[in-house]
Amino acid sequence: TKESVKGFLRRNLFVLLTIAAVALGVMLGFALRPHNLTLRKIKYFAFPGELLMRMLQMLVLPLIISSLVTGISSLDSKASGKMGMRAVVYYMVTTLIAVFIGIVIVIVIKPGKGLRDSPVASSGTIEPVQAADAFLDLIRNMFPPNLVEACFKQVREFTCQLIKQLFFNTLWAVLLQETVVETIPVSGSSNGVNALGLVVFSMCFGLVIGSMKQQGQALRDFFDCLNEAIMRLVAIIIWYAPVGILFLIAGKIVEMKNLAEVGGQLGMYTVSVIVGLLIHGLFVLPLFYFLVTRKNPYTFIAGLLQALITALGTSSSSATLPITFRCLEENNHVDKRVTRFILPVGATINMDGTALYEAVAAIFIAQVNDMELNFGQILTISITATAASIGAAGIPQAGLVTMVIVLTSVGLPTEDITLIIAVDWFLDRLRTTTNVLGDSLGAGIVEHLSRQELQSQDVEVGNSVIEE
Ligand code: ASP
Repeated sequence: TKESVKGFLRRNLFVLLTIAAVALGVMLGFALRPHNLTLRKIKYFAFPGELLMRMLQMLVLPLIISSLVTGISSLDSKASGKMGMRAVVYYMVTTLIAVFIGIVIVIVIKPGKGLRDSPVASSGTIEPVQAADAFLDLIRNMFPPNLVEACFKQVREFTCQLIKQLFFNTLWAVLLQETVVETIPVSGSSNGVNALGLVVFSMCFGLVIGSMKQQGQALRDFFDCLNEAIMRLVAIIIWYAPVGILFLIAGKIVEMKNLAEVGGQLGMYTVSVIVGLLIHGLFVLPLFYFLVTRKNPYTFIAGLLQALITALGTSSSSATLPITFRCLEENNHVDKRVTRFILPVGATINMDGTALYEAVAAIFIAQVNDMELNFGQILTISITATAASIGAAGIPQAGLVTMVIVLTSVGLPTEDITLIIAVDWFLDRLRTTTNVLGDSLGAGIVEHLSRQELQSQDVEVGNSVIEE
């Protein structure tokens, strides 16, 4: 048994370290809170965490491109088409279910009833966004005019414009009310990458290279090798991840506002989001996985633990992507052709947690404003919340920004987003974890459904090796 304990420790070393890091981070954070550190000191303290974030983000771009290009070019177009369809159906169905769960819960719990009699700030300065504009913007972003620029920034002019206005509105609210309202994370939207554009480009590029047969071999080898090299870098960074996560969590706990204050007002809202995410993440998604694969979903989820904790620590599904890859490939042995193809797409467009949260938040704001929503409006919220989750980048608090789309589609005051900012950092972590869980289970499901194509591909590759 000593041997088996050793074996267990070795196999689960990183997971155990990561869990220990979370526990230590929480303890350290609470131990330091009474010292009322200045913002500057907190920044210094959280520096190791910031480094982890940057390291992971550094890998995201080459990882998305190389994995998609190799993933798709290693499949024939029929196989990748089928796989892609399955993934998209899974994404749509699960996202809509998530939205539905969110809506039911927020209508039952009614966290916003009677919460406010005076509005935070007068409305009317923001030009209402039409749902159509949001959709156009989404499609626009799929085709970045400048690929290099897409690597650096979010080409989302329309939304950026809104964020700016919203930002000034928030300032306005602060000036008028003299209350300290945290500002919308404006920087979040400008320092990301236009992942959607890169995903579309890489997919097309992979398809073309795949069809080039012998001629494309050099490029296939190049991207394959690049992908392998990036994954090796990930293997190194994994060693540092527990330290980074410890400080990310501790830093946030030291920095956060008084819990009791926030808790009182937004407590029920927070509970609604959490209950929704738990139902979706712990029951609905696993049930889906079980129904399709007939395998134990919780064993699969256990293999993902490290990615889930990283999502909790970084609140970014793109930054978590490198770890998600590793967990799926190393622990759960999901076929690399599937992960390479499905994961980058999932991390960019499949966000169940974000969709659920957007629906809950929008209806919460309606309740606060004593606005009765009719069936049509609730339907509009479900559709726009889904679109907003697809459009949200996998970066911290992106969902808060795309919420503007949902609110304006049913005529709710966008400046009321300021009401929920105080708890958003926390909910963001939980919804990001749900997002990563959805992507990963999706990869498992698509692999199961595509085993025929994968096998026949194996046979083909085998044949060509023999012929050579
Ligand atoms: N932070 C989330 C993610 O990266 C997006 C969101 O803000 O909802 O998945």
